[in-house]
Amino acid sequence: MNAFLFRDGQLYAEDVALEALAARFGTPCYVYSRRAITDAWREFSAACAGRRVLVCYALKANSNLAVIDLLAREQAGFDIVSAGELRRVLAAGGSAARTVFSGVGKSSAEIREALTAGVRCFNVESQAELERLDQIAGEMGRRAPVSLRVNPDVDAGTHPYISTGLRENKFGIPHEDVLAAYQRACALPHLDVVGIDCHIGSQITSLEPFTAALDKVLELVDRLHEAGIELHHIDLGGGLGISYDNETPPSRAALINAVFNRLDAHPRGARYEILFEFGRSIVGNAGVLLTRVEYLKRNGEHRFAIVDAGMNDLMRPALYEAWHGVQPVRPREGESAQFDIVGPVCESGDWLARGRQLCLAEGDLLAVMSAGAYGMAMSSNYNTRPRAAEVLVDGERIHLIRERESIESLFALEHRLPD
Ligand SMILES: *Cc1c(COP(=O)(O)O)cnc(C)c1O
Repeated sequence: MNAFLFRDGQLYAEDVALEALAARFGTPCYVYSRRAITDAWREFSAACAGRRVLVCYALKANSNLAVIDLLAREQAGFDIVSAGELRRVLAAGGSAARTVFSGVGKSSAEIREALTAGVRCFNVESQAELERLDQIAGEMGRRAPVSLRVNPDVDAGTHPYISTGLRENKFGIPHEDVLAAYQRACALPHLDVVGIDCHIGSQITSLEPFTAALDKVLELVDRLHEAGIELHHIDLGGGLGISYDNETPPSRAALINAVFNRLDAHPRGARYEILFEFGRSIVGNAGVLLTRVEYLKRNGEHRFAIVDAGMNDLMRPALYEAWHGVQPVRPREGESAQFDIVGPVCESGDWLARGRQLCLAEGDLLAVMSAGAYGMAMSSNYNTRPRAAEVLVDGERIHLIRERESIESLFALEHRLPD
C-alpha cells in the first residue's frame, strides 16, 4: 500500500498532513508510515506461513529504535552488522536468539559481545574470521553458531556499489574455497556449523539473480552433504528492490514463492529452515524526507531549487546517482520549469534530484519520496549540520522517534587544545 497520498490538494502521511508535521517539527524531517512498514513485513510473513522460516530485518537500512520496536512486536528476526546494531536490537525489545550477525570485519570486542548476548548465528566471511571466532568462543567457554557466507558469483544486475555477489567484491567465500572452509569450521572445537548464507546485492528488481544464487547455494549444500556436513539452515540474504521510479521488482510474495518452488523441487529442500535478511523492501517506500525550498536560483538557463536538506541528510543521489521522486506537498498552479533540487552543502555532488519539471516558489515544502531505507541511516554531520528529526505516523497519531540534533551536541565530544 502507499501511505503517502494526496487529499484535498495536499500530501498526507496516512491521516496526517505533511504540512502539519513540517510546522511542528521543522525541516528537514524524515516521516515514516507505521502501516507501510508493518504491511511490508506482513506480506513477507504471510508468504512464509506454514514454513520453517525466519525473516530478519536488516537494521542497516533504518535502525531507528521505533522501527526495530515495531518489527520486534511482529516477531521479526534481525540482521546486524555491528555491536552498535546489536545494542539497538536489545534496546528496542528484539531477541538476540533471532538475530544473525553479518559483516566482513567483526572485531574481537564485537564477537565477544554477540557471544555474550547469544546471537542466533555468526555469518562468517573468511577463514581468518573462523579462527578468531573459535579462539574467542574457547576463551569464553562458549560455542559459536556459524554459517559461512558464500559468494555465489552471481550478477545482481544492480549498481556496482550495492552489488555484493560477484567475485571481485570483498564479500563472502569464493565457491571453490567453500568445502575446505566448512571442513576447517567443523574441525574447530568451539564452533557449531549450522548454516550457509549469501547476499548478492541490493535493489534487485528481477527474480533471476535470486534463483540463480539459490541454485548455486543448493549445489554447495549438496556438495557439503556428500562430504558428510549437514546444515540446519539456508540464509538467502536480502536485496529485494523497491520502485523508486518505474522499476518493477517482483512482489515480496513472488520472491518467497519462487524460493520455495525451488526448494520443494530439491530432494532435501524441506529439511532446511530458511532465513531472509530484508532491509530496503521493508522500509524503503515507508518513508519520505520533508524539505523546504530556501531559494530559487538561475545560472544561465539552469534552474536550481536550493532546499534545506542536503547530501548529509540523504546521501543516495550523491553516492549512487540514485533517483528519488520529488513531490511538492501542496502542488501549485502555474508555469513549471526544469529544476535541479540541490542542498546547502559545499559540494557539487550535493543534489537530491535533477531535471525535474516543477512549479515552485520559495518556502514550498517538498517530499523526497522512497527515503525510508538508507536515508537517515547513512546521514552525517558534514558541514556541521545537525541530523534531521524523524517522525512516525500511525493513522492520526504522530510519534517523534528521533529529535533533531542540536548544534552543540555535534561538537560536545571535542576538546580544544590546552593553554
Ligand atoms: C545490506 C544487507 C542486507 C539488506 O539488504 P537490502 O537490500 O536492504 O534488503 C541483508 N544482508 C546483508 C548481509 C547485507 O549486507
